[in-house]
Amino acid sequence: MSQDIVPRIDALFARFGANAYEGDRRESVSALAHALQCAQLAEWAGAPSALVAAALLHDVGHFVGGLMDSDQIDDRHENRALPLLSGAFGPEVTEPIRLHVAAKRYLVTVEPGYREGLSPASIHSLALQGGDLDDAGRAAFEAERFAAEAVALRRWDDAGKQSGKTTPPLDYYLALLEELSAGPQAPRAAISAFDLS
Ligand code: FE
Repeated sequence: MSQDIVPRIDALFARFGANAYEGDRRESVSALAHALQCAQLAEWAGAPSALVAAALLHDVGHFVGGLMDSDQIDDRHENRALPLLSGAFGPEVTEPIRLHVAAKRYLVTVEPGYREGLSPASIHSLALQGGDLDDAGRAAFEAERFAAEAVALRRWDDAGKQSGKTTPPLDYYLALLEELSAGPQAPRAAISAFDLS
């Protein structure tokens, strides 16, 4: 499984990457452009390679699982890629992906002005995903080992929607995935680099 993960990811982007980001909920970029922009932003922020990979792959769940994207349901895409990815990548990659929707709910809840900066599509999906967190949900999110990484990923997710932006090609990041899935996990960067504040 882990040996063929990179060709499988390549094939998923080849098949679905031209889709408008977030399916019916139109954003200004394709799914592939969004993934590449997020990975690039992670790299520019000095994130460890596992988190760059998470940024690249965070929406792959939109491509798998057989459900049609719809404007009217929450497709739980943060979970749908995990069976595919967890065979090849450690929690440093999969946990920020799993938590990136919760991170949006968290930021809406705790950060004044965050909601106003969201795109219309993100506002729409926020309601389907449950909206603000209650106190227990907020505490549960903060207790997650990869909460800070998920918040960092969320911010790149929000920013990675610029039409016409130049990024490295997918192959550049597939090489990074190849390294990550082949070797022992690189040590995780200090969590303070992705402070929640
Ligand atoms: Fe995204």
